[in-house]
Amino acid sequence: MRRTKIVATLGPATDDIEVVDELIRAGVDVVRLNYSHGSHEEQAKRAEMVRESAERQGRVVGVLADLQGPKIRTERFIDKKITLIKGDKFILDAAMDSLAGTKDAVGITYKSLVDDVKPGNTLLLDDGRMTLEVESVEGSKIHCLVLQTGVLSDKKGINLLGGGLSAPALTDKDREDMKAAAAIQADYVAISFVSSAADVIEARQLLRDAGGYGCIVSKIERAEALDVIDEIIDASDVIMVARGDLGVEVGDAELPAIQKDLIRRARAKDRVVITATQMMESMIENPIPTRAEVFDVANAVHDGTDAVMLSGETAAGNYPVKVVESMSRICESAEKHPRVMKSDHRSNLMFERVDEAVAMATMYTANHLNVDAIGALTESGSTVLWMSRISSGIPIYAISPLEKTRRKVSLYRGVYPLSIDFERIGKYNISSKVASLLSEKGIVDKDDQIIITRGDFLGEEAGGTNAMKIVTIGDVRVSKN
Ligand code: PGA
Ligand code: MN
Repeated sequence: MRRTKIVATLGPATDDIEVVDELIRAGVDVVRLNYSHGSHEEQAKRAEMVRESAERQGRVVGVLADLQGPKIRTERFIDKKITLIKGDKFILDAAMDSLAGTKDAVGITYKSLVDDVKPGNTLLLDDGRMTLEVESVEGSKIHCLVLQTGVLSDKKGINLLGGGLSAPALTDKDREDMKAAAAIQADYVAISFVSSAADVIEARQLLRDAGGYGCIVSKIERAEALDVIDEIIDASDVIMVARGDLGVEVGDAELPAIQKDLIRRARAKDRVVITATQMMESMIENPIPTRAEVFDVANAVHDGTDAVMLSGETAAGNYPVKVVESMSRICESAEKHPRVMKSDHRSNLMFERVDEAVAMATMYTANHLNVDAIGALTESGSTVLWMSRISSGIPIYAISPLEKTRRKVSLYRGVYPLSIDFERIGKYNISSKVASLLSEKGIVDKDDQIIITRGDFLGEEAGGTNAMKIVTIGDVRVSKN
């Protein structure tokens, strides 16, 4: 059973209930709605389709709304595209009409770019496909020298090598999109180009003000975010290693080390992490991945990521279902490597809370005794979050009466949501009821040994887990009430 979760972006290629059904059947755990494209109505319809399909298939699928942020782009060209030739001059002009681009100059979506760049800076266009060197800035015009030849079409991204753009993380559009994300009850809201903890705190406040309950995902894709990464992680629920823009700002060769470091830091701080961008890029066109892509997905699993993400591969690719199937296979196989099954269990740390200590004790025991599954009764999901920060091969079942919690934990590595009615489970014979739930679902049989965690005030308060119990399914006395 796969532990690493799959996040799939929806788009034109998936706007069909049959495709959505198949994506979920193929194993998508969380869908991403990319607010850079598509109207609020389209995104709401996608969320609705997914929830309807998941419900029908008896599956839990989370919804992640990804806000565009201050992505800086060129405006449009009269002839749709131009060719930039090495050695030519080219002007980025903040005052130019948005449709009037020519081979000599084009408008830009972010007017303050003129204040943020200096002669000698390198600007990267279209994810680094073309390079410009800034020669001078005069009024609204940034005069550049083309360093790398290429074809530039409408609305292509602009990044500053080394970072340092002053654009705030939340644009006016993001503020509107935030309301839309709250309205569709997104389980996760991703903030693009986060540069400080303050950005994350502001985003969370905006979401709460709009009535949204989702967790905040900080996309790490700016060079300066790396300087304050611990504060950003502390302020976030989830981080995304957004390798597209990050790679353009810091240089592609830096990415592997940064990915490993971000994943390690997030896990150590009990935060969740998504690895994103170009993981299976060639499958936009082809029915099989390249060997390099197979290694990339497997390496992210070995690094300890909770989830791997698909962008254009599902949203606009030719093989949206096949790519999920391939990715799923690669993850499952990578998870068999012994190094992702062991952990030193934070043996040098003190724990702050009783529920955290119980979660750690459970994982220590599960990894050192022959245990087949963990059944954690949880309100907020925090017990299973702690558990899933410890590397293990044992499935962790998050048993919760709350749909929001079940959808949230769908992103956590090695955690599988199960529904239960706390009224029905009552206060007595809880182990027998958990045991029968797991057996009814075909998850365990009578010889299996499981660990159950629970609190004394089940269903009354979050964070009350104070007990772990080890039972063999066949030995649990089944009671009638
Ligand atoms: P994007 O973010 O696809 O929204 O740009 C991911 C990335 O930059 O890697
Ligand atoms: Mn990005």
